[in-house]
Amino acid sequence: VRVAVLSGGVGGARFVQGLLDAVEPSGVTVIANVGDDLEVYGLHVSPDVDTLLYTVGGEADLERGWGRRGETWRARDAATQLGAETWFQLGDRDLGLHLARREALDRGEPLSAITARFARTFGIEVRILPATDDRLRTWVATGEGELSFQEWFVLRRHEPEVQGVRFDGADTAQAAPGVVEAIAAADLIAIGPSNPFVSIGPILAVEEIREAIRSRRVPSVAVSPLIGGKAVKGPADRMLKNLAGGTGPEHVASCYQGLIDALVYDEADRDVSLPDGVRPIATSTLMTDAASRRRVAEASLEAAAALR
Ligand code: GDP
Ligand code: CA
Repeated sequence: VRVAVLSGGVGGARFVQGLLDAVEPSGVTVIANVGDDLEVYGLHVSPDVDTLLYTVGGEADLERGWGRRGETWRARDAATQLGAETWFQLGDRDLGLHLARREALDRGEPLSAITARFARTFGIEVRILPATDDRLRTWVATGEGELSFQEWFVLRRHEPEVQGVRFDGADTAQAAPGVVEAIAAADLIAIGPSNPFVSIGPILAVEEIREAIRSRRVPSVAVSPLIGGKAVKGPADRMLKNLAGGTGPEHVASCYQGLIDALVYDEADRDVSLPDGVRPIATSTLMTDAASRRRVAEASLEAAAALR
């Protein structure tokens, strides 16, 4: 089967890992959020793309929960000593990837081509595509004014409550090469258990991508990032409360109006009434090991099969 998956970082990457155990990896295309991207020391950081590369490539630091395994921090410490701002942390090995990306971007290689090359180097069989090669940046409106995504998420530890999000550059961003084609060729479209507003939202803000999903002829299935109304990690629950009016599966589904045919959510969520046309699939969705990741992927595949 050919699957097109929309993904942010950690939640999406866990789902993709499960999918790789359940289907032939060469049939999977992951479309990654780039709204979190930022420039640090002149380097182009693409946190969700890199979380996918590191997780699927077996390079992720699973204990820390972000970044590359076997990391050291000598460059950061030296930079701190010399007065640099180091709130956005890049370990030494991670810096190496960023130096290679900077050099390639400066040569004119698009982010999508660089990502494909890095994926090959890491021995990754699935295709990982940034949603767009164009500049697209998430901004977050808070009671303390508008903050860039990473200022809000990392520097402010996502504490200021979110009143709205904006995707700068989305109006003119084109889907990266292969994205629309992968959606059109898919037997199943899956939206991973990523943050609907700041991980999936920026992908869907690219009009060509939204339209490709809206006009689908195959099932589209989303997985909820909330378990019993709570995010496993991060601000998704608070954002759903503030921006969608609640933390139930129906609120998650409301983020994907016209874009999904089924929602996989956790059996801890009860009294669920999803919008018409969205089939409810309750299962255990906590992905702590290979078996549980695979189960969530299989629930999505079965939901799609039942819809066909
Ligand atoms: P980020 O870009 O690294 O923040 O990652 P994502 O947006 O892809 O994923 C963050 C979301 O993943 C959070 O809202 C979590 O609640 C959700 N998440 C993480 N692990 C799990 C899990 O095991 N099961 C489910 N259902 N959601 C998860
Ligand atoms: Ca992210």
